[in-house]
Amino acid sequence: MVQSSVLGFPRIGANRELKKATEAYWQGKTSAEDLLQVGKQIRAHNWKLQKQAGVDVIASNDFSFYDQVLDLSLLFNVIPDRYAKYQLSPLDTFFAMGRGLQRKATATEKAVDVTALEMVKWFDSNYHYVRPTFSNGTQFRLNGQKPVDEFLEAKQLGIETRPVLLGPVSYLYLGKADKDSLDLEPLSLLQKILPLYAEILQKLAAAGATSVQIDEPILVLDLEKKVQDAFKTAYDFLGAQASLPEITLATYFGTVVPNLAAIKNLPVAGFHFDFVRNPEQLDDVAAILSDKQTLSVGVVDGRNIWKNDFAKSFELVQKAIQKLGKDRVVVATSSSLLHTPVDLESEKNLKPEIKDWFAFATQKVKEVVVIAKNVSGDDVSAELAANAQSVSGRASSTITNNEAVQKRVASIDEKMSTRSAPFPQRLEEQQKVFNLPLFPTTTIGSFPQTKDIRINRNKFVKGTITAEQYEKFINAEIETVIRFQEEIGLDVLVHGEPERNDMVQYFGEQIDGYAFTVYGWVQSYGSRYVRPPIIVGDLSRPKAMSVKESVYAQSITPKPVKGMLTGPVTCLRWSFPRNDVDQETQAMQLALALRDEVNDLEAAGIKVIQVDEPALREGLPLRSGAERAAYLKWAAESFRVATSGVANKTQIHSHFCYSDLDPNHIKALDADVVSIEFSKKDDPNYIAEFQNYPNHIGLGLFDIHSPRIPSTEEFISKIETIMKSYPADKFWVNPDCGLKTRGWEETKLSLTHMVEAAKHFREVY
Ligand code: GLN
Ligand code: ZN
Repeated sequence: MVQSSVLGFPRIGANRELKKATEAYWQGKTSAEDLLQVGKQIRAHNWKLQKQAGVDVIASNDFSFYDQVLDLSLLFNVIPDRYAKYQLSPLDTFFAMGRGLQRKATATEKAVDVTALEMVKWFDSNYHYVRPTFSNGTQFRLNGQKPVDEFLEAKQLGIETRPVLLGPVSYLYLGKADKDSLDLEPLSLLQKILPLYAEILQKLAAAGATSVQIDEPILVLDLEKKVQDAFKTAYDFLGAQASLPEITLATYFGTVVPNLAAIKNLPVAGFHFDFVRNPEQLDDVAAILSDKQTLSVGVVDGRNIWKNDFAKSFELVQKAIQKLGKDRVVVATSSSLLHTPVDLESEKNLKPEIKDWFAFATQKVKEVVVIAKNVSGDDVSAELAANAQSVSGRASSTITNNEAVQKRVASIDEKMSTRSAPFPQRLEEQQKVFNLPLFPTTTIGSFPQTKDIRINRNKFVKGTITAEQYEKFINAEIETVIRFQEEIGLDVLVHGEPERNDMVQYFGEQIDGYAFTVYGWVQSYGSRYVRPPIIVGDLSRPKAMSVKESVYAQSITPKPVKGMLTGPVTCLRWSFPRNDVDQETQAMQLALALRDEVNDLEAAGIKVIQVDEPALREGLPLRSGAERAAYLKWAAESFRVATSGVANKTQIHSHFCYSDLDPNHIKALDADVVSIEFSKKDDPNYIAEFQNYPNHIGLGLFDIHSPRIPSTEEFISKIETIMKSYPADKFWVNPDCGLKTRGWEETKLSLTHMVEAAKHFREVY
């Protein structure tokens, strides 16, 4: 019998139970026991669901109250002193590291004030992990035994599980040295951490675990020789220990082939690889297996919501079986299902035709079982027939295919993606229109999204206020924002985006070819979940999406108001993309829809148009080489297709945040003005990198994630530092990002100080 395996299941609960429970605990409304109880219920539910579906290998320790990497830091006592010193309970220490803690002293408790550890993107997903942070003084030891406890918990329910742990090389590689130990190289801690892995694995074996899944996801990155060598050190060490469970070494989100030498001959029982991302690697990986090692074939996508194409998966698994034999092949999800929504059955509003194309985590579990049964020779003909019908139905559906859109994408040429004059000439024409002072001031787009705004939006969605009432409300909000900006003397204004629920969803809802879920939440970090829209077919814009609000805003002020759009790459990255068409094609379709919008805004009298691309950097393929080069080319081209239909005198802005940008990547967009997140980058080299950026640039001057209000002097000194290596005549003055999460009070003061600082420099230069 070919076994079926699920690498991990979403832990947020079908109704976001985990979010409600953790937030209630943080607010002091419930006890730790209440929270632990909810965790236990979710775990039991997930295990039972998989057991009932017939999964052979079910993961445990895939649950976390915040993040699985942070779990490991707590387990190994990698707790910086600034947290340890408060002697909080393990649970509270864990949350303090994840999200920071600020608590006033009470009669029984000391005051606590500590910021969170750094949070980083988990490979190319939208999940974020809490970065392990090591010091010279870190005292490695086991702190509790979460993996063992959860293994036993499942065992008590009569369910045999395979515990999952992030492996030692990835754990160290993904970490960093703390501020007090900057010369510390995390990988040098391998010898200290390996005995802890051995210890926890021995405990698992003693508790009855016969096998474990150890994840080494960094195996899909470009690795230096010394990192590659660390795998042999680590797994030879574990291989030499007595009485450990069998190890399946798992990696995902890409091909392992360039790192095969690092894992060849490791003393592990088997490997798991991602054949959704990279089916071509089968021959190469099969060739390095010893004759007993098993291969877990990840064919059910853990990163997307599409129903599996059984015929295709079946073929790949068969190929593996031909090479290795039935008893050495396992059918699996490509990665943990953490990145998929919990259950498609909760969705009542999806068109039945579209719903039939999807599989969420609960459905994917069943898919793995059906594929395993099929290759084992069980009769699943009914499932296969139904699947074939869904797959062909999707391929030929008029929702999937729009010939006019396909033709238009095919017709994109060089001219469509090039402005009609180079930047210096455009700038000259733009200056005649705007006559901006030196150090022009602007903001990134959104103003505080107040409770009042959310209440009114909900009322409108529910139908308790009319479209006219809602428009009146939105216009009043826009007017408030415009008057405030005029009052403090900003130069290029924004309308404040009060009508937008989310910068991608707002446009997605107005573009044909998108579908939306009600319960399709996916964990982004901690208790923050996102609900990505789904690209189901060729994309087109039936009518203008943002012109009304921008035109209203421009009609009430003589100052230029920026039209505000979300760029093609960001719309793509923050959605579930199609898997039947490449990313480039989807980006170009979005680019054409946005091009029409940009042109409509211009025709309606909007003279400055900003197209945000905060997700540009995160789309960068994990490995250098051809794929990355191709991405950079089409990503920039899609932006230029969206923005090159305008006259020279129309000023195109763009905005980037969330990551370290390479100025060369943004240069290729040829926007007239770019604003980038910058305030927390205290590295002078980062400023210098932008020195030769040819067009205009605004380096974000204050952190919009914090309620802190910088003084005018602080703005002045920040700008002074930048001016040491940056030309004054190209510099714009703006915050890091949109202000939607801020309150009005701090927004008013921060922006007033920012404008005062700009005025100061106009006198100096
Ligand atoms: N214009 C958007 C805003 O201000 C940009 C948001 C973003 O970059 N994340 O909210
Ligand atoms: Zn931003």
